Amino acid sequence: MAEGGHYDIVILGGGSGGYACALRAAEFGKRVALIEKDKVGGTCLHRGCIPTKALLHAAEVADSARESEKFGVRTSFEGIEMPSVLSYQQGVVERLWKGLQGTLAGRKVDVIYGDGRLASPTSVTVNGATYTGDHVVLASGSEPRSLPGLELDGERIISSDDALRLDRVPSSVIILGGGVIGVEFASVWRSFGAAVTIVEMAPQLLPLEDEGSAKVLQRVFRRRGIGFELGTPFQSVSYTDTGVAVTLGNGKQLEAELLLVAVGRGPVSAGLGYEENGVTVTRGFVEVNELCQTPVPTISAVGDLVAIPGIAHPQLAHVGFAEGIMVAERLGGLDPRPIDYDGVPRITYSEPEVASVGITAVQAEQRGISVVEVNYPLGGNGKSVILGTQGQAKVIAEAPSTPGGQPGRVLGVHLVGSRVGELIAEAQLIFNWDAEPDDVAALIHPHPTQSEIIGEAHLALAGKPLHFHA
Ligand SMILES: Cc1cc2nc3c(=O)[nH]c(=O)nc-3n(C[C@H](O)[C@H](O)[C@H](O)COP(=O)(O)OP(=O)(O)OC[C@H]3O[C@@H](n4cnc5c(N)ncnc54)[C@H](O)[C@@H]3O)c2cc1C
Repeated sequence: MAEGGHYDIVILGGGSGGYACALRAAEFGKRVALIEKDKVGGTCLHRGCIPTKALLHAAEVADSARESEKFGVRTSFEGIEMPSVLSYQQGVVERLWKGLQGTLAGRKVDVIYGDGRLASPTSVTVNGATYTGDHVVLASGSEPRSLPGLELDGERIISSDDALRLDRVPSSVIILGGGVIGVEFASVWRSFGAAVTIVEMAPQLLPLEDEGSAKVLQRVFRRRGIGFELGTPFQSVSYTDTGVAVTLGNGKQLEAELLLVAVGRGPVSAGLGYEENGVTVTRGFVEVNELCQTPVPTISAVGDLVAIPGIAHPQLAHVGFAEGIMVAERLGGLDPRPIDYDGVPRITYSEPEVASVGITAVQAEQRGISVVEVNYPLGGNGKSVILGTQGQAKVIAEAPSTPGGQPGRVLGVHLVGSRVGELIAEAQLIFNWDAEPDDVAALIHPHPTQSEIIGEAHLALAGKPLHFHA
């Protein structure tokens, strides 16, 4: 292991943002030190994206087994063996973790294990050694947070980290927070047989998503037996003989074996020397500009840790990747473009999935843009009918500038239904390449696939619907 030393770039935190920066910088021939106190891969690989999606896949298999008779296949669902699910999940994580360590070693990135602290605008101390760099990139990420006065005990009042380690299926769960993490765990646990209730203060699940997508999700969740209390704040929790009792702002009381607190993630920055070295820290988040620069010329910051004034900065692994790459390219002498955060694809991997890119019609109105929209139901799509899923594809575009003219740029694509997450990759190309409905209408989509909903919605917006009828 290296014992201190000088590098071109010292990166504090080996999660999605930090390791992406390291890998790209190494491609420019930079000498990089990546400092990590736990495991490279960070939240996404060990406590986030990957383990949750493994659980969601196991949940899908459970649903398929339960519902197989619908398709004429005789099988029986006998239950979930959580230790086996966890070992499958762990197998996936370990394999990817090994691959990542190999890739970092292959690019000659020095990974230094230990608790790092920013000691000066050009150095980080770890285990008593000092690593200096021409540039330092802060990428210490985020961790689960709770509400004031609501203490997580890791047993009955748990975070997503605890939930991923749970070696049994709880009989019942209350989930505080109907954002992406809460909705994904609700979906998993319901498929595994638990009674689930989500408590969300906003009037809809997934408050950041299109209202129409949320309505479909809520309809399907209701049908799946997932309960939710919307527009209601959490008030208090107490222990019962068998679990917890939660009191809501509207006076309602709910009881369950477990309470999962999924009210968002806070930045990891306390005590790391950021403010002392001139970095602006607001509510724990490191403030950066659109190029991820702090006011200190030798310090950049990326990933869940950062806030950009005036921009709703999404805490997503692929945002961390993109920011890490952008910083590496800037330090490598290129002139990267700032990220368009509207153009970041977002997916909630529940059953059904919710996926979007761009803005909603409400956001367009707030920005003074008139729009036209088409809402293509999945009931008109062969593959979706084969899968037995319901949902919709909503596409919004700038209203035509002349009466009877073609709509302008596509401003948002909002999908809901089984497996639609994969379709958002095409939608993000459409959005980020400033395509207009007529451009997309000319492209052929393979039949029968769910991708046809993208083609059909754009055909309809361009005034030449195929199967769509309003
Ligand atoms: C349950 C869950 C599901 C998720 N699902 C998805 C998903 O499906 N898709 C998606 O895009 N995003 C998902 N996310 C979000 C995603 O995991 C994060 O956006 C991403 O991990 C952020 O990357 P990061 O590098 O900014 O931070 P992190 O991944 O948190 O990495 C920070 C790293 O810094 C290290 N570190 C911190 N302090 C120090 C220190 N002092 N010294 C040394 N090392 C330090 C930490 O150990 C950690 O490894 C999910 C998150 C959760 C919790």
